[in-house]
Amino acid sequence: MESRLIKLAVLGSTGSIGRQSLDIARKFSSEFKVTGLACGNNVKAFEAQLREFKPRLACSDGKISLPAGTRRASMEEIASHPDVDTVVISTTGKAGLAPALAALKAGKTLAIANKEILVMAGELITQMAARHGATIVPIDSEHSAIWQCLQGETGLHRLILTASGGPFYKKPRSYLKGVTVEQALKHPTWHMGKKVTIDSATLFNKGLEAIEAHWLFDIPYEKIEIIIHRQSIVHSMVEFVDGSIKAQLSTPDMHLPIQYALLYPRRLPNENIARLHFPDIKKLTFEAVKYSDFPCLKLALEAASDGGTCPAVLCAADEIAIEQFLKKAITFLDISKIIDKTLSKHKRLSKPSLDDILQADKWARDAALKVAKDNY
Ligand code: MG
Repeated sequence: MESRLIKLAVLGSTGSIGRQSLDIARKFSSEFKVTGLACGNNVKAFEAQLREFKPRLACSDGKISLPAGTRRASMEEIASHPDVDTVVISTTGKAGLAPALAALKAGKTLAIANKEILVMAGELITQMAARHGATIVPIDSEHSAIWQCLQGETGLHRLILTASGGPFYKKPRSYLKGVTVEQALKHPTWHMGKKVTIDSATLFNKGLEAIEAHWLFDIPYEKIEIIIHRQSIVHSMVEFVDGSIKAQLSTPDMHLPIQYALLYPRRLPNENIARLHFPDIKKLTFEAVKYSDFPCLKLALEAASDGGTCPAVLCAADEIAIEQFLKKAITFLDISKIIDKTLSKHKRLSKPSLDDILQADKWARDAALKVAKDNY
């Protein structure tokens, strides 16, 4: 019988999602062949991955020693290489944009963990996928939940995105003023990279997820509801036109949505993923979001409905603001102010090209840094 190995490339392989994607490739080694890996400058971890998986292609910003049989390539080359079927994009920031477009042009399956790709360029990306018959599959837990709920269904009415509320849920402003970087980096239920952890504390992350859901599932923003669900057990829900609601539940472990994305449509047992035990959970709670408590979320949703280059500016301004917060140059509450001021200075372009998006990104980085330096 012909071998049915899925040839896998992981871009951003030393980050949290990248490492967990390789856990899945390792666990199901009879299903996957890792053919391409790319990382930033975490050289030591990357070299260990290269030794273990012996991919044909490797890309790194750092100086790496390549094992025999592995050669250097750019991320775009890896993403579009004939020896790759599925490309996991788990790089952070806009670095994933060009390889994502290259993968789609080559008709690959694109497993997206990088938020910026759909937020900055959702229209371009979805059009490119349609034009080249490429498939986009979500890795994020919320989008995976929605995707799983939609299998075999018609009559989608609305999406209900769940949000944990982050470590500062219901904390008063007086407390938030003095929040330290260390406190902000402690997420109650998920263990993730620094930027996404801060974005979860401000709920900015949920705004980005609404934008991603809009593009992935072709649904208007007014049909996406965000609710607070502290336990991170219900990963999101779908309501159909007849009023029926489906939810996807599991322990908060990213290996599950990654495995689903990479093996889709198959489900295989994985004893490394903890099972839900309802008597231990005791209760699941749901509450409305108080938007006044989460200005970053409000700004994200406003930029989403403004569209055009606004979401790109939103992302860039947030990235700069978080950099400044992590450097302790600004306070936690200044993050939203910097995003707000940067967005209000932006001259929006509709139907942006990739160039327009990258220019808006560059403009916003400079503008946000200036706002931060001048005001805080
Ligand atoms: Mg998420």
